[in-house]
Amino acid sequence: MPGDVVTMDKIVALCKRRGFVFPSSEIYGGLGSTYDYGHYGVLLKQNVKGEWWRAMVQDRDDIVALDSAILQHPKVWEASGHLAGFTDPLVDCRTCTQRFRADHLGDLQCPRKPSKPPGQGPDCDLTDARDFNLMFETHVGPVKESASVAYLRPETAQGIFINFKNVLSFARKKPPFGIAQVGKSFRNEITPGNFVFRTREFEQMEMEFFVPPGEAQQWFEYWQQARYDWYVELGIRPDHLVLRAHEADELSHYSSGTSDIEYRFPIGWSELEGVANRGDFDLKAHAEHSGEKLEYFDQATGERYVPHVIEPAAGADRAALAFLVDAYDEEEVAGEQRTVLRLHPRLAPVKAAVLPLVRKDGQPEIAREIVAALRPILAVEYDEGGSIGKRYRRQDEIGTPWGITVDHQTLEDRTVTLRDRDSLAQERLAIDELPGVLARRLAAPWSSPKLGAA
Ligand code: ATP
Repeated sequence: MPGDVVTMDKIVALCKRRGFVFPSSEIYGGLGSTYDYGHYGVLLKQNVKGEWWRAMVQDRDDIVALDSAILQHPKVWEASGHLAGFTDPLVDCRTCTQRFRADHLGDLQCPRKPSKPPGQGPDCDLTDARDFNLMFETHVGPVKESASVAYLRPETAQGIFINFKNVLSFARKKPPFGIAQVGKSFRNEITPGNFVFRTREFEQMEMEFFVPPGEAQQWFEYWQQARYDWYVELGIRPDHLVLRAHEADELSHYSSGTSDIEYRFPIGWSELEGVANRGDFDLKAHAEHSGEKLEYFDQATGERYVPHVIEPAAGADRAALAFLVDAYDEEEVAGEQRTVLRLHPRLAPVKAAVLPLVRKDGQPEIAREIVAALRPILAVEYDEGGSIGKRYRRQDEIGTPWGITVDHQTLEDRTVTLRDRDSLAQERLAIDELPGVLARRLAAPWSSPKLGAA
């Protein structure tokens, strides 16, 4: 197995070439750091979110789903502390007029002297840092006045807290229980970049787990491990994943403990997901600002309390990027270079490609019959264009785990070859066996063949 050959440039190029992700508004020259997802990118991200929903809701009975509005009452952001404190330190350069995040200067380049960070070029003249609020402001209704100000949500979490009472009254849950939400969030990042790692519009997957105060630490530990395991089960190599506890000076105002799950991206170890012990900060803040009681009354014990909250907060785009990076591989096969995405089969945009060897002799018809039989159980693609080698390469590049080839023998005995993306092993199977075999393989545990490579 060759060493890890992945770079961010290779991922960006593959994503563009195979239609996963494009720079947005490209025909107008692009809009910095915004991206559009194409067919395979949508399917991949959809699968990431689907696996998150599966782990959070389908596989357990103590978490319910929510989809709250992006636009919320401005008081939500006053209560949460975002209006006053959701800021990053901003510096301007008086020479080049560019703006930078003061706490990221070491990772950035001076536009005039790219070998140096901003502030260290010969002509740099940086201002003092000042707080810049990351929330996007907009106006609700036709009149632009101060009373109509609203914000695009910078996180999905607050939509969960303000619905705590609604959910408690209909979901018939008692702490410990959770509310899960996936959706778009918006942050006017000072320095977005590194492809979809940091953008101004992105999707989050957040879950707030409400627990009796005395159980907070135990659930904090539980969720750190559960979320770490989720990435590993979906194929991320454990030696590229770490749980890092925040130092006391890194903690947010609401948090008594936070750990980041970090992935070793080509840009270095970076946050994939944060798991925080938020205590009773949020429910208390919203109770105070709204006048509503946000607490739990246990009828069995007569006890009344404000639950504490454990929050695993992940990014769908960042997770999709990590899965792509971890899966990317190149190898030489029979003297030819191939690029392959060794994605977990459940994350792969397409699970099986059905390929007639030639476009005649009844082969396309049988191939289409197989597609129709498999379509109800998994994402399948029919491809008859180009040489068989070229078609395999195309499927390897989008991470399709199985190739089903129809050939002249298929017409005689209704068998096909099943090609494995990673081992390249080919086996002969009866067409009727395909649905059962593929469904079993899709459900089986999987680990990356890149494991152990550098
Ligand atoms: P960072 O330190 O990278 O700015 P954060 O600590 O502010 O992230 P959280 O507020 O904890 O991030 O958000 C939870 C998750 O949402 C992050 O772990 C990340 O996966 C995702 N996320 C946050 N900001 C962005 C962004 N600008 N672009 C893409 N994903 C993001």
